[in-house]
Amino acid sequence: MRANCWYGKKDVRIENVPDPEILNPRDAIVKVTSTAICGSDLHLYDGFVPAMEKGDILGHEFMGEVVDVGDAVSNLKVGDRIVVPFPIACGSCFFCQQELYSVCENSNPNAWMAEKMWGHSPAGIFGYSHLTGGYAGGQAEYVRVPFADVGHLKVPDGLSDEQVLFLSDILPTGYMAAENCDIKPGSTVAIWGCGPVGQFAIQSAYLLGAERVIAIDRFPERLRMAWEKSKAIALNYEEVDVSDALKDLTGGRGPDACIDAVGMEAHGMGIMGAYDRVKQAMAAQTDRPVALREALMSCRNGGVVSIAGVYGGFLDKVPFGAVMNRSLTIRTGQTHVHRYMQPLLERIRNGEFDPSFVITHRMALDDAPLAYEMFCNKQDDCIKVVLKP
Ligand code: NAD
Ligand code: ZN
Ligand code: ZN
Repeated sequence: MRANCWYGKKDVRIENVPDPEILNPRDAIVKVTSTAICGSDLHLYDGFVPAMEKGDILGHEFMGEVVDVGDAVSNLKVGDRIVVPFPIACGSCFFCQQELYSVCENSNPNAWMAEKMWGHSPAGIFGYSHLTGGYAGGQAEYVRVPFADVGHLKVPDGLSDEQVLFLSDILPTGYMAAENCDIKPGSTVAIWGCGPVGQFAIQSAYLLGAERVIAIDRFPERLRMAWEKSKAIALNYEEVDVSDALKDLTGGRGPDACIDAVGMEAHGMGIMGAYDRVKQAMAAQTDRPVALREALMSCRNGGVVSIAGVYGGFLDKVPFGAVMNRSLTIRTGQTHVHRYMQPLLERIRNGEFDPSFVITHRMALDDAPLAYEMFCNKQDDCIKVVLKP
């Protein structure tokens, strides 16, 4: 089959690779009908995630048709159309029982590697380095889905791929980021990053009752989308001082909750921006936490900072004194996607969400190298790419 494989920094290639096979009784094989590139894939593409190997198949946002099932998968049959959540979860361990699927303790065969880096291991993730299991991803014609009996959402008739594909990741991610904010009537929520995750966080925050959502980015097309599609107040951080603007908008107090939908590759300006880029390039820090610092400093006393953006390791100059002295709450995590798929599907069916609005580019899987370049460099106003095998 054809698959999009990682070969190094800014180097992905379409290769012919062996078809996946059932390895365990709870596996299924899915013929991929739609797959997408995530902001998290850019961290691999830009070379910031360790434990990648040449030839690794990328992709963790995908859906398709079941073409084979293992003996222990009784709730799926050949021909079913499913969306697959990006974290791989067993469904029955200590963490899965508490719906903490992205930290399942049975799905990362390389747990020892993750333990060295993070103390304990999270779940395995499709196409996301050997640190999270080394699983082949879904930017391919076919993919093996482990624990397929718990890791799937059956798509009801009448819904297109584009309406449901993002249940695999970014819609639940934006939603969980907003849910983590403890939004109350009258709440103001500020969101750093107007990529696809930020866009869904904005819509989710309004849906959960926020009175005002303030969206921060520097790309006009992304800010325009935040305003036109979701009525966020848009701030361009190249034009205004974000912390001053947020004070002005909140009577000096700061937003009730702040969402970081940027993560480890934040763009920074001035001396601190240069400092982060140099330290990250020298591997003296793993991440550039520009947006996180700003969110922590801007949030009102006693507020919540909800972190959806992915961080890899050790962060420099994070103002933890602000967290402690001002009673901030931090909530974060790889999204517990399984928990949100069915409820969010209902919200799509009753018209509360139409996730397809973030799609700006539809391309063939064979064009993945070009699609990565465009999405990474924000060329042609690219916000989200869907690839068709
Ligand atoms: P994206 O790259 O399209 O969007 C990131 C946005 O942040 C861009 O529009 C960029 O201009 C903006 N940005 C950069 N620096 C900024 C700054 N200093 N201030 C404000 N905005 C800034 O990516 P995406 O797909 O929207 O994903 C966003 C983040 O969420 C990534 O880190 C991704 O890895 C992460 N993510 C996490 C989960 C999870 O489970 N927690 C799931 C999916 C994605
Ligand atoms: Zn993702
Ligand atoms: Zn589990």
